[in-house]
Amino acid sequence: MPAPKTSDLSALRGLIMDMDGVLWEGESPLPGMPDFFRFLRERKIRFVLATNNASLTIASYIQKLARMGVTAAPEEILTSATATAEHLRAAAGPGKRAYVIGEEGLIRAVESAGLRVAGPDALDADYVICGMDRDLNWNKLACATINLNRGARFIGTNGDVTFPTERGIAHGNGAILAALTAASGIRPKIIGKPYPAIMQMAVARLGLPKARIAAVGDRLETDILGAKNAGLKSILVLTGITSRKTLRKSGIRPTWVTDDLPAIQAVWTGTGK
Ligand SMILES: [Mg+2]
Repeated sequence: MPAPKTSDLSALRGLIMDMDGVLWEGESPLPGMPDFFRFLRERKIRFVLATNNASLTIASYIQKLARMGVTAAPEEILTSATATAEHLRAAAGPGKRAYVIGEEGLIRAVESAGLRVAGPDALDADYVICGMDRDLNWNKLACATINLNRGARFIGTNGDVTFPTERGIAHGNGAILAALTAASGIRPKIIGKPYPAIMQMAVARLGLPKARIAAVGDRLETDILGAKNAGLKSILVLTGITSRKTLRKSGIRPTWVTDDLPAIQAVWTGTGK
């Protein structure tokens, strides 16, 4: 798997960056992270931070970045919740009713798209929108299934089937989508990586040709496959979920592989190996 060369990176004008496992691990910034952003600003390299996590708001990401010494603007951050909202703004007329399985980040995003969020027992929704919900219960699944069977459109923020927790690997939103599909026979439109919708929105925000953009991520089946599906180059960093061993065994190939953000910066500036 090739490491990037200085000429590869100096051709880039924008990055679409994953956050967990790339910028930080939990509440701890990964080494060299604030420096990397200073470098991007100095070089006027644009970025969009794009995550499949739908539970946090843009404001909470801005606060988290600020705690780590990085200033970012709202338009530089895209979550699968805000990408879902952007999709709904274009696809659904205002005033449509949405039955939402999800947390505050998703509920606020759906409201901001002009939809009305239906109550917990509503059975007359135009859309069922499903993202990670740590208060998920039997009634929500039942109402979502009934709404789907009655003809509601089915949207999933992201299809990740697993979700890492401090206690171990738990089920992700993709597992809940699969349960709703099993019950209703209806498949969702999924917005997050590796589906192209979120990547295409990030490309549009960067306003650059695809050849000038690379996606940076730590997960092969979302970040790297998502880049490939959207026709973008990709840089795998090894600070998150993927090790060299899992990379060797995978059929998903990034364009380039580097250890971490400082390694990217060193190659980009021509001071690396
Ligand atoms: Mg990640």
